[in-house]
Amino acid sequence: MQDKKKGPHEMFILKNQETIEKAILRARTVHPRVSVRKVGEYAVTGSKGNSYTVTCERRNNLKVVDCNCQAGQLGRPCFHAAAAVAQHVYFAGELATRDNYMADLYDPRD
Ligand SMILES: [Zn+2]
Repeated sequence: MQDKKKGPHEMFILKNQETIEKAILRARTVHPRVSVRKVGEYAVTGSKGNSYTVTCERRNNLKVVDCNCQAGQLGRPCFHAAAAVAQHVYFAGELATRDNYMADLYDPRD
C-alpha cells in the first residue's frame, strides 16, 4: 500500500466548476435523500420521488462520479451526484480517521 494522495479534495473530476456548483446548490434546495447501498454506491431520491443510483469510484487513478439519471448519463454533474458525493466524502473522512488503509480501500474495484 503506497502512500498515494487521497482525500476529499480530489474526489471527482471537476470538468465544469460552475455546473457543479449549481448541482450542489440544487442538492441543498431539493435536499434529496441519500441511502447507502455500500461505500461508493448510493441511492438518491430525485425531485419527483424517483430514485437514482450514484457511484463514486476510482478509474484510471481519477476519482469519478456517475449517476444514472439523464443528465448524469450525459456526463453532466447533477444534484444526485452532488448529494452522494457529500455523503461519500463524509464516509471517506470517517474511514480515514478510523484506519488509513480503509480510506484506500473504499472502492473495492480499485
Ligand atoms: Zn443524477
